Amino acid sequence: MASTQAMNDEMMLSYASGTLPAAFDLVVASHLSLNVESRIQVEAMEAVGGAILEKETPIKMSENALSICMSRIETETPKPRKAQSGNYVFPQPLREVVGGDLDSVQWRPIGGGVKQAILPCEGDSSVRLLSIPGGTAIPEHSHEGMELTLVLRGAFVDGQTRYGRGDMEYADDHTEHQPIAEDGETCICLTATDAPLKFNDLIPRILQPFAQI
Ligand code: ZN
Repeated sequence: MASTQAMNDEMMLSYASGTLPAAFDLVVASHLSLNVESRIQVEAMEAVGGAILEKETPIKMSENALSICMSRIETETPKPRKAQSGNYVFPQPLREVVGGDLDSVQWRPIGGGVKQAILPCEGDSSVRLLSIPGGTAIPEHSHEGMELTLVLRGAFVDGQTRYGRGDMEYADDHTEHQPIAEDGETCICLTATDAPLKFNDLIPRILQPFAQI
């Protein structure tokens, strides 16, 4: 299995090249609003992408060809995305989809105190908000496809790793896990999937069709 870092890099590259499905695009755009390191990484990728495109345009070589090329890259590199501002729980790309902040969400209970809100999204992938009370475990599961989860409030622990606000976890068909919300504050996450989860226990499997998870 590739390292989490390598998988995250691949996800960022797909985002930078505009090839991520809409559900995942929303999670990454929200992550970028909250995480300055990833924002810098994506901006560098977009700059390199611009340079590659420039190479495909025939340029008559002259003494100042390089400086012309560099100035074009500079002018065509997208402006840096704005960092999160204000006291919102939701980053701006998510607020646009929800039509407001946390208090605008229409939650539906899906068992064990966990609530979800499925968000409108184009394409076959799905994206939802999850509200997990502190100390509550998501039933152990594996995946048929990709799953990308961004923490918006509180934190969860998965194995040895803690994910707090702005952190993103990538899982795929190699991952079997049981994220547990940290004791205390309710954990609010944004999660995108492109295939149903595979739960190990019977009860979550019975509830699964109702939760569309
Ligand atoms: Zn998962």
